[in-house]
Amino acid sequence: MDLNLSKSEGDYLKAIYTLTLDQDTTNTMALADFLNVRPPSITSMLIKLANQEPALVDYQKHQGVNLTEAGKRLALRLLRRHRLLELFLVNILNYQWEDVHTEADELEHVISEKFENQIAKLMDDPKFDPHGDPIPDRDLNLPTTNFIPLAELDEQAEAIIRRVQVSKSELLRHLSAQGICPGARLKLRSRNPFDQTLQLLVGEKNQSYAIGPELSNLIFVEML
Ligand SMILES: [Zn+2]
Repeated sequence: MDLNLSKSEGDYLKAIYTLTLDQDTTNTMALADFLNVRPPSITSMLIKLANQEPALVDYQKHQGVNLTEAGKRLALRLLRRHRLLELFLVNILNYQWEDVHTEADELEHVISEKFENQIAKLMDDPKFDPHGDPIPDRDLNLPTTNFIPLAELDEQAEAIIRRVQVSKSELLRHLSAQGICPGARLKLRSRNPFDQTLQLLVGEKNQSYAIGPELSNLIFVEML
């Protein structure tokens, strides 16, 4: 099956998928915010996706929007490609993790299914991309994990960072300079009970790092 989608249609499907991971539906405002697009353009794209055969989204004006089964499969296919490409760029082409997101966004629309399968095989059907995002397998199943948000870790607990759910390049560059990346160990030294800032000790060198709640909810860890 080839992905007969424009880049912007694909961006919408991935955005709706992400925004409905822990809730039943999303809406035009949330999508406008996520995609940085004005609400009227969102509405016309949603109508377009709803009118495809088969329909890719369930959408009624002033109601929530959600992916149909067909839309969800396409979103997962795109995420598989995107994440395989990110890992390929880092592992094989020596890219830095902060530079792969935009590159993969372009490439996911031009590679063939054969190319996708070849890079998956070359990398032994990997389960996670360089940011720790799960890669759907060939049947579009996601690996199960027991990661928790760093924000929920107990004081004095030690953990391994497994996922950094950030796509902004500058922020990723900053985090890796502080040793914050998948595979790194950390210890939670203390939590400020008023603003939830965490004081961490990171890596072999126990580098101190303070992190606020906005970011500590985007970083996922496995407890040791
Ligand atoms: Zn990624």
